Amino acid sequence: MARTSTAPLKTARWAAVRSFVAHRASFRCEQPDCSVYLGMTGDVDHIVPRSVCEDVGIGIYDPTNLQYLCPSCHSQKTNAERHAGKEKRPRKTGRTAIQGRDDFLNAAGIDPNPANHEEHHAP
Ligand SMILES: [Zn+2]
Repeated sequence: MARTSTAPLKTARWAAVRSFVAHRASFRCEQPDCSVYLGMTGDVDHIVPRSVCEDVGIGIYDPTNLQYLCPSCHSQKTNAERHAGKEKRPRKTGRTAIQGRDDFLNAAGIDPNPANHEEHHAP
């Protein structure tokens, strides 16, 4: 079963949710003994880690599972999760080179070698 990637979310929906969470936190770190002012530069953290969300049926955009943290509190939480073995970070495999480029271009009706225009020079 494929796991959700833990790569940063870059969708428009995430940007909107992120903005909502920042406003809700009054732009401050939500760690009670921290509360440092962050503006829009804070990290939006999944309280239940994203790698676990899909297993327990929590949407990754669910604002009730999100909190606004400063980078320091965020990394502390991430480290704690790692030590507890709760967060699984699958290694991302590198993207392989596109195979069969010419086959693809031929199927799409594109000449893979545009320089090879047949020019018959009649004698
Ligand atoms: Zn903090």
